[in-house]
Amino acid sequence: MSVEQALVGEAQKFAAELTKRVPGLWDELARLEKQKAEIESKGAEIETKLANAQSASSRYQAYEGRRGDGSFRCPKCWICDHVDSTAFGPTGSRESGREVYPCRCGFRFLY
Ligand SMILES: [Zn+2]
Repeated sequence: MSVEQALVGEAQKFAAELTKRVPGLWDELARLEKQKAEIESKGAEIETKLANAQSASSRYQAYEGRRGDGSFRCPKCWICDHVDSTAFGPTGSRESGREVYPCRCGFRFLY
C-alpha cells in the first residue's frame, strides 16, 4: 500500500466518523430551534409585561374610580389589564361588615 492509498484510507475514516454524527447533529439543531422559539416567545411575553409595567404610572394618573355615568371602575382591570371593566360594583353582599365589589378579573374590593 502506497502512502497515498494509506492517506485515502485515513480520509475515509475521518469522513465516516463525521458522517455518523449527522443524525445527532440534526436532532440537536432541532432541539435548539425549539428552545429558540420558546425563548423568543417568552421574550415577547416579557416585553409585553415590561410595557404594561412601564405604563402603570401613567395608567394610575388617568384612573378615576367612577365613570361619568356613575358606575365604578375596577382599578386592577384599569392598571394591570388595560381594560375598562364594566362589570364592577357592589352586589349587595357583605364581608366582615363591608360591602363587596367583585370584578370578573378576580379582584374583590371591600368597602
Ligand atoms: Zn377587574
